Amino acid sequence: MAEIPFKQPLPIPDEDSSPYWEGCRKSRLMLQRCGTCGTVRFPPQHLCPSCWSENADWVQASGRGEVYTFGVVRRALRPDWRERVPYVVALVCLEEGPKLFTNIVDCRPEEVAIGMPVVVIFDQVSEEIVLPKFRPLT
Ligand SMILES: [Zn+2]
Repeated sequence: MAEIPFKQPLPIPDEDSSPYWEGCRKSRLMLQRCGTCGTVRFPPQHLCPSCWSENADWVQASGRGEVYTFGVVRRALRPDWRERVPYVVALVCLEEGPKLFTNIVDCRPEEVAIGMPVVVIFDQVSEEIVLPKFRPLT
């Protein structure tokens, strides 16, 4: 049976998230901040989850955070992903408060721990998309 070529699913920027992805292309982790109450939020969205305001601007995050929780993927879901395993999928809590799902890179999975300080790096995965990933903060 012929194998169907796999195309990695990638984010599709929309009206709310385009500034975020544009920031990633410039190696800047950008977060929305409510223009009314100041709540910093992620993922990008039209309304503030705290006060429902539509006013928002963008601020550059420090890029630092800590591992909130994580898992290690050891079994490739597809044969052509064998060289990717093992890899770490983590929920990182940013210094600014929001949490985001990402990968922890530049270390062995056994070194990752809850509470570990991490810092963002940017990984260009296609012509258009740069993904924020995190490595241990040393
Ligand atoms: Zn607000």
